[in-house]
Amino acid sequence: MIDPGDEVDQLIEVVTRHAWTVRYIMLTHAHLDHIAGCIEAKAAWPVPLILHRDDHFLYERAVQQGVAFGVRMRPQPPIDGWFDEQSRWRFGHCQVTAHHTPGHSPGQVCLQIGDDDDDAGRDLFVGDTLFAGSIGRTDLPGGDHEVLLNSIRDVLIPLGDACRVHPGHGPSTDIATERRTNPFLMSIA
Ligand SMILES: [Zn+2]
Ligand SMILES: [Zn+2]
Repeated sequence: MIDPGDEVDQLIEVVTRHAWTVRYIMLTHAHLDHIAGCIEAKAAWPVPLILHRDDHFLYERAVQQGVAFGVRMRPQPPIDGWFDEQSRWRFGHCQVTAHHTPGHSPGQVCLQIGDDDDDAGRDLFVGDTLFAGSIGRTDLPGGDHEVLLNSIRDVLIPLGDACRVHPGHGPSTDIATERRTNPFLMSIA
């Protein structure tokens, strides 16, 4: 389960309907809209909750983030594992590789999902780093526009044109399309 945010009830309903087994709850970063459902998710699935340590300060300030956005937030459950200590995780016959892509937030990661042991995969869950036709905002605490562009250039683009990109908001896209058409990538791609 990636980023149980505001729609956690729907996520739980879908997982229950398909009788899927959740092995981890993984957070691409710790902004409010990506972590707001961690309490409910952890109650539904008592599995390890994983984050990058560089976003822990944001995670621990969930209640204050809520105040800043006018949303009532409860403290979130403790983190069980860190992407900066272990970058590869297995679930079933699949694997997740976490790539650190700071800029939108300091501990933002891109989660690359592969179908089997030998294949890192072509599906990228990028959080709020890259969107179809846009990139993440960098005006929140710890954000840095230059660092974000470097992450896209040095980490995401080298994963290859064929990679499918699943952003935290809006439609999915792919690296090739964004390299050709995303105005924010013109200077770096
Ligand atoms: Zn965000
Ligand atoms: Zn977001």
